[in-house]
Amino acid sequence: MNAPTMTTPTPPVAPLIPGWRHTYSGKVRDLYEPTEPHPNGDVLLVVASDRISAFDWVLPTTIPGKGEVLTALSLWWFDRVKDIVPNHTVEAEVPAEVAGRAMVVQRLEMFPVECIARGYLTGSGLIEYNQMGSVCGVPLPEGLVDGSRIESPIFTPTTKADLGEHDENVTFDGVVATIGDTAAGALRALTLAVYGRAREIAAERGIILADTKFEFGRDSMGLIVLGDEVLTPDSSRFWPADTWEPGHAQPSFDKQYVRDWLTSPASGWDRKSGQAPPALPEDVVEKTRARYLEAYGRLVGNYS
Ligand code: ATP
Ligand code: MG
Repeated sequence: MNAPTMTTPTPPVAPLIPGWRHTYSGKVRDLYEPTEPHPNGDVLLVVASDRISAFDWVLPTTIPGKGEVLTALSLWWFDRVKDIVPNHTVEAEVPAEVAGRAMVVQRLEMFPVECIARGYLTGSGLIEYNQMGSVCGVPLPEGLVDGSRIESPIFTPTTKADLGEHDENVTFDGVVATIGDTAAGALRALTLAVYGRAREIAAERGIILADTKFEFGRDSMGLIVLGDEVLTPDSSRFWPADTWEPGHAQPSFDKQYVRDWLTSPASGWDRKSGQAPPALPEDVVEKTRARYLEAYGRLVGNYS
């Protein structure tokens, strides 16, 4: 696989691509379907834009090259966990217009569940732990603090909310009520197995994979397949292992930097106001871009 070149920033709107019809835009990705029958069957083209979201808002500023890093990292990880679960990628050429930032995938019927695994406690997991001593109904040992390692990683699913809504933590029983116990059990087992493998691989590279989110779907045969992006700084928290110290927030390779700036007085933004967040200043864009690149560099290897 070629390293991302990060030379072609995407426009903020889904690009026109001959042979493909734009069908959906999420916060970060634009989805297309083929205009003619495709040799690989019922496929989609998933294009990762440079858009960045925080607190469930799409920010008005893009991070140049981000979509390429997300795509390259996802493909790298899919390959490393394909013996645990099949994934939605299809060996097919992507259009030149979006080379490096797109993948052709099998269209799946997505489960309405965000499958989160946590091996370290922070963020919304920490808040819930401090209130209840558990996360999504999973009890945890006493005395854990921000950044503590969770010896047996836990499955902490959320409901998948519509654009503009916030995802909400649910218990395992809540997932069972939505998709049935067989599927819920399978998603939990797969989530923890893939996370466990990835946590080891990241650790070998000096990176703590604190937590991550997967999305699964069913293919046309009913088989459970790993979809979406995987193990990127957008879907995960990566921390440098050498500075890890429980008891406070950890420095990270993900968009924590953007979240911290948005919630600092410097941004002038009130998260509770319901107003859209402001544009990011140039130095925040640069530092965020550098963190995405460093995460890629540490995991996969350096950029040319
Ligand atoms: P939302 O869809 O709620 O806006 P999002 O903002 O996270 O979520 P993106 O990640 O930008 O969305 O877009 C990717 C979309 O594609 C998601 O809705 C995801 O569930 C969906 N998706 C991912 N893989 C597949 C697949 N193989 N088949 C169908 N849909 C998929
Ligand atoms: Mg997404």
